[in-house]
Amino acid sequence: MTKSLDVPESNTDVIAASEVRLRALLIATSDVIYSMSADWRVMRELDGRGFLKDAKEPTIDWKSNNVHPEDLDKVNTAIDEAIKEKKIFQLEHRVLRVDGTPGWTFSRAVPILDDQDQIIEWFGTASDITERKNTEEALRISRVLSDQQKRVYETITSNTPDLMYVFDLNYRFTYANSALLSMWGKTWDTAIGKKLLENGYEPWHAEMHEREIDQIIKTKQPIRGEVSFPHAILGRRVYDYILTPVLNEQGEVEAVAGTTRDITERKQWEEALATGAEELQAINEEMAATNEELAASNEVLTTTNEKLALVNQELLIAKQKVEEAQAAFRLAVSAANFGTWFIHSVTREFITDARLKELFGYYPEEPLSIEQATAQITEEYRDYASSTLENAIYNNGDYDITYPVIGFHDHKLRWLRAIGNLKVDPSGTFSAFTGVVMDITEQHLAAAEIKHAEENLRMAIDAAGLGTYYINAAERIFVVSAKLKEFFGYFPEDEVTYDAAINQIHPDYRQEVVNSIESAFTKGTRFDMEYPIIGYHDGKTRWVRGIGEVQHREGTNYFTGLIHEITEKKLDEIRKNDFIGMVSHELKTPLTSMKGYIQLLLVKLKKQEDDFFIGALEKANGQVTKMTSMINGFLNLSRLESGKIHIDLKKFDLALLVKEVELEFLATTLGHQLLFEPIESSFVNADREKIGQVIHNLISNAIKYSPSGSSISIACYSANGLANISIKDHGMGIKSDDLPKIFDRYYRVEGNHMFSISGFGIGLYLCSEIINRHEGKIWAESEFGKGSTFGFSLAKVYNQ
Ligand code: ADP
Repeated sequence: MTKSLDVPESNTDVIAASEVRLRALLIATSDVIYSMSADWRVMRELDGRGFLKDAKEPTIDWKSNNVHPEDLDKVNTAIDEAIKEKKIFQLEHRVLRVDGTPGWTFSRAVPILDDQDQIIEWFGTASDITERKNTEEALRISRVLSDQQKRVYETITSNTPDLMYVFDLNYRFTYANSALLSMWGKTWDTAIGKKLLENGYEPWHAEMHEREIDQIIKTKQPIRGEVSFPHAILGRRVYDYILTPVLNEQGEVEAVAGTTRDITERKQWEEALATGAEELQAINEEMAATNEELAASNEVLTTTNEKLALVNQELLIAKQKVEEAQAAFRLAVSAANFGTWFIHSVTREFITDARLKELFGYYPEEPLSIEQATAQITEEYRDYASSTLENAIYNNGDYDITYPVIGFHDHKLRWLRAIGNLKVDPSGTFSAFTGVVMDITEQHLAAAEIKHAEENLRMAIDAAGLGTYYINAAERIFVVSAKLKEFFGYFPEDEVTYDAAINQIHPDYRQEVVNSIESAFTKGTRFDMEYPIIGYHDGKTRWVRGIGEVQHREGTNYFTGLIHEITEKKLDEIRKNDFIGMVSHELKTPLTSMKGYIQLLLVKLKKQEDDFFIGALEKANGQVTKMTSMINGFLNLSRLESGKIHIDLKKFDLALLVKEVELEFLATTLGHQLLFEPIESSFVNADREKIGQVIHNLISNAIKYSPSGSSISIACYSANGLANISIKDHGMGIKSDDLPKIFDRYYRVEGNHMFSISGFGIGLYLCSEIINRHEGKIWAESEFGKGSTFGFSLAKVYNQ
């Protein structure tokens, strides 16, 4: 497209000529020339001028060839805007240079318009501004960096408590940081450019630094020193300072920079440290002593801690127990069907549950105030109930009260027992009274009935003239009725102790009574005794029968007894006994001589062999023997009753005694088969003669109450440390109704079969009395119609 710059001949030539001139101008002024299609898609021509790659032919790849990819958007945006506005395109952007390296261009293009004002093409120039741009960028970066550094320095210098400053060679401040400015109490503008004196330094101080600056300029060596001078606010301070030369490129001092640090406090510490060294030593010693103490208390602490741990453990267990107990209590409350209530001592708030309402005859859904509840208590108890409650709340008293209530709706009478106690709030500001209410109507009525019955019984006892007493086992408290006092010869107002009462019992019976009561306490046996009492005031002898037993009440054993007077009956008996004793005694003498005569006659008649007379005399002898034994029985009885029987204890072998009895019976017994089982030797401490009587008596009864020809077994054996004798027969036996009574005095079983058997019912009574006085045991077992076994046991003695 190059045209000659010759003068044109036609219009076309003129245009062509001007175009050429323009181009020449452009070439002369611009780096790059280019033309673009109206829409900038096709680059028609590019004259790169060694900066950009030339495009001789139209190309659509121009963007990728020439424009730096990172600036493509920027370029496109500027193109779009220029097309839209039909105005000059103008943009600085990066390009890809001929050698492919990035460069910068300033590009401008004008739109060429047709008659209709439509863009025909764009014509542009672009200059290489790479160098300028690079310089600008380097400058920008260095500015940023220096700004940064400045900020860093400023941050440091303005935030440090140290004073920082720079002097020029004429001792003028060219820099002072904010700490220094504030120390001076000056601003930058009033302080910078001024000398030391002008900034308030004292002359000696200003001179000193000026001399130092001179020295630094000369030696190029830093100087360090310490100085003390007044601070605007803090007063006199001590400073440590360093002055350093600032050297230029030629190594000459161009300024002097300095930093000064306030070391007043450090100085004080140092001084304090120096003077306090001794104190420190003392303190150290003290510390050592204290440490020892600490070690000791540490030990104590350790043991205390261990104890605490234990206590804690216990507490934990206790807490658990409390929780368990609380749970159990809640269960118990619901199981026992208690009503529960709560009263706030200050607000008087009254909280109840459904059960409590029910107990007062209210429906569960109804509210119940304490006044309403109180109103249901019967009039007789109402005031008592409220005052008891008030007292419990205000005087910290426990509350346990029983009262009758008439139900509000159901009008039912209920006896309620209300139990409560005070719980003080931990802060102590109020107390709550909590408790339960239970229905004890049944128990209450039952108790009332019992009381009534007891009252009746007491009246009956009084009416019957019975004395009553009871003895508390633990403390031996002795409570007696008026009647009892009378029996013991006391006045109603006299105090009667247990020991005093015992003392009034006739000496012959006293010990037995005491033993018997003790046995009631220790063995639970029943007390039943007849004994005479000598009246305390009147000295009168009264016979009484005392019965009683131990009862268990409220965790204590009580001996409850009844006494009634039997003096009349007893005197009768005594008279009778005396009479029997006397008669028996009187009868015994003629009987003994009668027996002697009969035996003499028998001896004589046996020589003459007169069978009839012999037979008759033998029968008479048998009867006399029987009668003698009966009379002996009566005599024994009367002796026993009058207390004249004596137990003469001696150690002997029971086996030998049984053997003797065996020989005696074998000689006289004809009709029965006596089987003496092998006997083991057993020593006892007893009255040999009386035990012999007992064995004799039991065997005689066995013979008497069993048919002729039947067998009787006698055994003597040891068991459980006791020597036992048993006599077993195959006779008539005893009905179970009669069995417990056969050891009673004068008791005889009634019945047809007894008709022909003589006796007075004193044999077994005597046996049991004798065995009892040996502290032994006598018993009988029987099956009616089949036979009986009687036996007794005595304690064995071992050491011979
Ligand atoms: P007695 O024999 O004089 O009547 P006891 O005191 O010896 O008096 O006996 C009391 C009663 O016990 C007797 O009347 C008799 O009924 C009964 N008894 C005693 N021993 C026997 C026995 N071995 N078999 C049956 N009954 C007996």
